[in-house]
Amino acid sequence: RELGADIEWIQGGNLALAADDRRMARFEAWLPVAREFGLATRLLRPRDLGAVVPGLAGDWVGGMHTPGDGHADPEKTTDAFARAAVAYGASLHLECAVQGVSTRAGAVSGVVTEHGEIRTPTVVCAAGAWSARLARTLGLDLPQRWVRGTVARTTPVPVVSACAVWAPGVAFRQCRDGSFTIAAGGALDHDVTLDSLRQLRFFLPNFWKNKALFRFHVGRPLLASLAAALPGSAARRRPLVWDRGLEPPPNPAKVRRSLAELQRLLPSLPPLGIARRWAGYIDAAPDLVPVLGEVPRLGGFVLATGFSGHGFAMGPVAGRLVSEVILDGKPSLDLSAFRFSRFAEGVIGTPRNVL
Ligand SMILES: Cc1cc2nc3c(=O)[nH]c(=O)nc-3n(C[C@H](O)[C@H](O)[C@H](O)COP(=O)(O)OP(=O)(O)OC[C@H]3O[C@@H](n4cnc5c(N)ncnc54)[C@H](O)[C@@H]3O)c2cc1C
Repeated sequence: RELGADIEWIQGGNLALAADDRRMARFEAWLPVAREFGLATRLLRPRDLGAVVPGLAGDWVGGMHTPGDGHADPEKTTDAFARAAVAYGASLHLECAVQGVSTRAGAVSGVVTEHGEIRTPTVVCAAGAWSARLARTLGLDLPQRWVRGTVARTTPVPVVSACAVWAPGVAFRQCRDGSFTIAAGGALDHDVTLDSLRQLRFFLPNFWKNKALFRFHVGRPLLASLAAALPGSAARRRPLVWDRGLEPPPNPAKVRRSLAELQRLLPSLPPLGIARRWAGYIDAAPDLVPVLGEVPRLGGFVLATGFSGHGFAMGPVAGRLVSEVILDGKPSLDLSAFRFSRFAEGVIGTPRNVL
């Protein structure tokens, strides 16, 4: 409403399904946290699931339902935020990469772009999976790992449910035109690059503990990153420019699997086709907690990154908090848990619960 644009917001709730007692126990452990934050999350027995998603098949132990959750179209939402920013006086420079940040006396003095320098005392680094590379040009070690997420959009069918569903084999939500957006469960695709090796010390314990969760791909991205490190290469001369608009290829096996799983869970659907598929890099911090706030010892350099797969949901509040840091000098929420210095301090916690 605030954006004044149709972003296809559907507040149909969110249902996470449990196929075994272990997952159900995790949902149960989550309830007090949800209550603490005022969410009306509840556990559902198998016989109650059909009331939320009519015709749902499968052998479920139960589910966790949050009726107030919703979903929106990511492209329309991004566009709406950009338009709203322009309406409030922002100017957008599209297809214009940042090549570096200039500093003077330990503080930011400007940002150097492909099309010249913009003098400014404040720079917000919100470069997603590219943030670590930008930070490195300033001598800052920002630990980031990334996985390639694949999503597909099906052909439209009559509406079944407004609720977004998250099952172990597939996550799906039905859009307003009746098509489903689907993503496969299972192992996460990690494209190995030189940065994976650079960041190994932060992530090795986690990778090792959860190795079944990752599928490592050694191929073109590794070769491209090695080529970019060669002395004299164009990519090395302009390290922030060469792949800033990277569109990684979707994983076709995941698309096939998620479509088959959707048809299995909703057997009354007519046969669905795939209308579109795409992929993107999802960046993650070692503790899966974002990094928000000004970097100590570099006045004016503000980080808003590391959203660890939840940046679409967290973006609006993160934007507000970062604007408070810049304009008021003090955010309305305590951001100390999100501080950049936690990595250097070695205070990298583990999340209370990963669902
Ligand atoms: C398949 C998939 C499904 C997802 N599902 C969900 C979900 O259901 N819920 C949820 O909350 N989140 C979801 N996410 C995660 C969410 O999209 C991210 O957390 C979020 O986009 C991160 O926002 P960001 O602004 O940090 O980075 P990004 O959105 O990646 O934006 C960074 C931008 O910086 C630009 N950039 C990089 N380098 C430069 C440079 N040198 N100069 C100028 N610009 C540069 C990039 O081109 C990019 O446009 C999903 C992500 C993927 C890929």
